[in-house]
Amino acid sequence: MIDVLNPADGSLVGTAPDLNVAQVKAAIDRTCAAFPAWSRKLARERGDLLRRWFELIRADRAAFADLLVKENGKCRVEALGEIDYGLGFIEWYAEEAKRVYGDTIPSHADNAQVLVVKEPAGPTAAITPWNFPFMMIARKIATALAAGCTMIIKPSELTPLTAYKMLEYARRAGIPEGVFEMVTGNPKEIGEQFTGDPRIRKLSFTGSTAVGKLLAAACARDLKKMTLELGGNAPFIVFDDASLEDAATALVAAKLRNSGQVCISPNRIYVQDAIHDRFVAAVAEKVARIRVDQGLQEDFVVGPMINQAGIDKVAALVDDARAAGGQVVLGGEPHAKGGLFYSATVLAGLDDSMRIAHTEIFGPVFPIYRFHTEDEVVQRANASEYGLVAYAYTRDLARAFRLSRNIESGMVMLNSGSVGTASVPFGGVKHSGYGREGSYYGIEEYVEVKYVLMAGL
Ligand code: ADP
Repeated sequence: MIDVLNPADGSLVGTAPDLNVAQVKAAIDRTCAAFPAWSRKLARERGDLLRRWFELIRADRAAFADLLVKENGKCRVEALGEIDYGLGFIEWYAEEAKRVYGDTIPSHADNAQVLVVKEPAGPTAAITPWNFPFMMIARKIATALAAGCTMIIKPSELTPLTAYKMLEYARRAGIPEGVFEMVTGNPKEIGEQFTGDPRIRKLSFTGSTAVGKLLAAACARDLKKMTLELGGNAPFIVFDDASLEDAATALVAAKLRNSGQVCISPNRIYVQDAIHDRFVAAVAEKVARIRVDQGLQEDFVVGPMINQAGIDKVAALVDDARAAGGQVVLGGEPHAKGGLFYSATVLAGLDDSMRIAHTEIFGPVFPIYRFHTEDEVVQRANASEYGLVAYAYTRDLARAFRLSRNIESGMVMLNSGSVGTASVPFGGVKHSGYGREGSYYGIEEYVEVKYVLMAGL
């Protein structure tokens, strides 16, 4: 068995099965065997099962949230938010199952008709991370099942308990064995089994860019479809015409979500000269009011890092920035509570050559950079291998539109720090991956387009 530890105090939350190769293979076999019947079910029937699953989880959302707090460390308010966010995908795709429309195209031949139909891609697999243990699985499985695919999921071994609880509720809702399978064990071995099985026609992965590239190379062997949602290095740009108060509030909320352990977390905060010092002070003042603590309580708190490697990484980046001349405005060290807690930290006076500017921090750190002009900041924002999301605050409409065109990323948030919901396409460009999740674009990732020519009419 795999021990699952509470990052807030190191206590044992539960265990998950450490499956061997034969057990994983048997689960893949079930996923493949279930595909023909599931893909031929009426779309309405697939949607009804997803809807029933949605209702069962919603009725027990508090229990799901409590488990999420214990195995992930995020605070309860956020855990409830994550459950609702994830439920939004199940509800959305329960409805969307009925709308996988095809097309007709004016015929190029006499006495003929051209049809375009969309067919489920086949049995699929997914690998998900620990930072949103519920939502990541909900988003992938709901889309796959709605499209008529079956799916086997490997959740993160750091947070498998929420995942297995989701599976239990899926069975209760009547989603059959094989249609939704789950395995845990050695990530590398399971990854090799998913990518090495030619019957699996698609892999959806959310996690690090390094692992994403390994999986993409392995999937190339039999040209599996892929959705890759990888790392980010999000710029958050504040122009001097912006509402300083709105921008600071949105930044603090976006950054401290899940203690900064989020791929869309603002990772490089660029502030224009004229408001730079006031903005740094406003952010520090807001951050100083937020407690760092374990998450099972009513108010918003900054929780622990997921593991020792996580806190070591954050500490090293902050130490490096300080040594290179950066100014620590607030925090700057592990929290006095000890364990995996790191102080909410505001850094200023940074420059783009520092390691922190090129690394996904994954912690409660606000690295603030000064900029002068729009052209300069766009160029600096784009000087990253990543391209997931960019945020910008400005009241100048023309500039906002220019930014939306000039910034290289899959998502651009203008005057908002909030990104995700079921109805929008989530995803990145460059080393942040490819493919989109959510909205009607998400379902396109799980279907194949078939062109049918009906001639001789
Ligand atoms: P993170 O930094 O978010 O933990 P990872 O890419 O390491 O990112 O982990 C994301 C998911 O990928 C987890 O479920 C993890 O178990 C899995 N994983 C890690 N290494 C591999 C691998 N070599 N092959 C397949 N999956 C892996």
